[in-house]
Amino acid sequence: MSWVLEGFGLYGHEGTMAALLEDGSEIPYAEAGPREATRVRAVCSCGWRDVEDHPAVPGDLRATEGRGSDDTPHAAWEAHAAGVLLESLSELDEAVRTVDWYLDRLADSRPMVTLAAASRLEAMIQRVLPRAAARARMQDATWEDIGRVMGRSRQAAHQRLRKYTA
Ligand SMILES: [Zn+2]
Repeated sequence: MSWVLEGFGLYGHEGTMAALLEDGSEIPYAEAGPREATRVRAVCSCGWRDVEDHPAVPGDLRATEGRGSDDTPHAAWEAHAAGVLLESLSELDEAVRTVDWYLDRLADSRPMVTLAAASRLEAMIQRVLPRAAARARMQDATWEDIGRVMGRSRQAAHQRLRKYTA
């Protein structure tokens, strides 16, 4: 029993539950007997721990973790994972700005370095654009939506990406 957010660093984010014992200590829920695990707390492999705990449903893992319901260990971990994602999006934005800043300044003074870096970026774009475009369409993004995030018109986005989407 665990909840996983893929692709975030060495240890990633794997959520699970800890059972809170009478004496205030915690053990993994999976190791607790049904009578021991009366209260549980969501925890994550990154070290995050929920500040609140929740009642356990004796002997019922599914009901205890409460996927799909509010105010459950699973919901608490999902909120943690959403925060992680949001943080990484702002890191991505920052990284793109940094690359932009460097290449803009190096294009004249260090053209060979710029060519090498830009060529790698181009290969990266060729690799990720088709995947992202196809996925966005599968998730019902309109060409209007796609154009907006790409800073282009609906028509321009469609023209650029339609070959990648069904
Ligand atoms: Zn985590």
